[in-house]
Amino acid sequence: MELATTTNLPSSDLDAFWMPFTANRQFKASPRLLVAAEGMYYTTSDGRQIIDGTAGLWCVNAGHGRREIADAVQKQVMQLDFAPTFQMGHPAPFELATRLVELLPGDLNRVFFTNSGSESVDTALKIAIAYHRLKGQGARQRLIGRERGYHGVNFGGTAVGGTGANRKLFGNIVTGIDHLSHTHNLEHNAFTRGQPKWGEHLANELDRLVTLHDASTIAAVIVEPVAGSTGVLLPPVGYLQKLRQICDKHGILLIFDEVITGFGRLGKPFAADYFGVIPDIITVAKGITNATVPMGAVFVREEIYQTFVQGIENGIEFFHGYTYSGHPVACAASLATLDIYKKEGLLTRVSEIADYWENAVHSLRGLPHVIDLRNLGLVGAIELESIPGKPGARGYETFVKCYQQGALVRAAGDNIALSPPLIIEKQHIDELFGVVTDVLKQLA
Ligand code: PMP
Repeated sequence: MELATTTNLPSSDLDAFWMPFTANRQFKASPRLLVAAEGMYYTTSDGRQIIDGTAGLWCVNAGHGRREIADAVQKQVMQLDFAPTFQMGHPAPFELATRLVELLPGDLNRVFFTNSGSESVDTALKIAIAYHRLKGQGARQRLIGRERGYHGVNFGGTAVGGTGANRKLFGNIVTGIDHLSHTHNLEHNAFTRGQPKWGEHLANELDRLVTLHDASTIAAVIVEPVAGSTGVLLPPVGYLQKLRQICDKHGILLIFDEVITGFGRLGKPFAADYFGVIPDIITVAKGITNATVPMGAVFVREEIYQTFVQGIENGIEFFHGYTYSGHPVACAASLATLDIYKKEGLLTRVSEIADYWENAVHSLRGLPHVIDLRNLGLVGAIELESIPGKPGARGYETFVKCYQQGALVRAAGDNIALSPPLIIEKQHIDELFGVVTDVLKQLA
């Protein structure tokens, strides 16, 4: 098979695809195309190998080009390409759900399948609202997110998300939403290694919102245990515990959006394990299939599931689902992925290299424009000072230069986020930070 390159792909072929989350005109003027991938590396269309510092988009946890997943997908397509899961079934999602539950903390025993992180989030929010209705508390409709939270792009996720760009473009698309403050604070926490010490008290804002709106109107709080897409924001020590306490006190469901932290990113299967805080609902996607086939899932506590199945006497308990919920091919990819995670110990591997990673991240201290460095598990962030009047420009320049010089990193505004595959070895960490160091030294 001939690989597409920017030289054999006519420039007119770039026109039709409206690229997501992309400055289309800027990209199409000087495209960056990835044409192959193996292990820790992508191959670019001009034939270069670049190290993957972002596991694609926080998703290729077991590294690229895993033969076992490809074989499982091919076999499944030939055996049973598709079958419905509405009033019908096929074995794969039952087997997969059972395997996932073995990995989950507490009594998060039930699994609802989706096709993406965004769908997982909107599913979780609908579960929360319906749960309270079934308990005779239909006034509990308010949802609480957090500033600088990212929960995907569907209606509910956009609304509970906390990025200004969403408000500007879409307004208040769902009403009855409130937000906690974000926990990022350079004055107190700049250059902290691991979890910041300052900021636990910010969880008390939930109490303030309860006083304002009354607990009887609040369905759920959703947070990312570690916020990724908006620049890697870490939870202060004690913060998540406090959110859990306040939710318990007022009968509010706590949802952890683990789309990026799920499947080993912090050195435990889930962030809930890492922080020792068990939410009522967990949303995942990405690493569930090593990103080979789109899939997401929502994990719920036993009591929530029982409320649905006991609460509806006859008929469909949860009037919700996707044509592709529990798609056979996605399930096959996920089962093969879980086998790899188990065989290679990847869901806990990060704890072995986290110290080396932390030192590498903090080795960048003192380089031009670096105003903060953050790390936890196999997550890193470099916050760069913004160019006055041009927010995001320095982050974008860093991303482009890294791409040109041998590393894929991700810019979220002027934050550079790093989240490599969990198979990373020390020499890869050295290589990645070698490129990043060189680039930071070149910044104007
Ligand atoms: N939630 C979180 C925390 C995410 O990071 C993302 C994606 N980066 C999503 C939800 C949305 O996932 P998807 O793009 O698969 O819809």
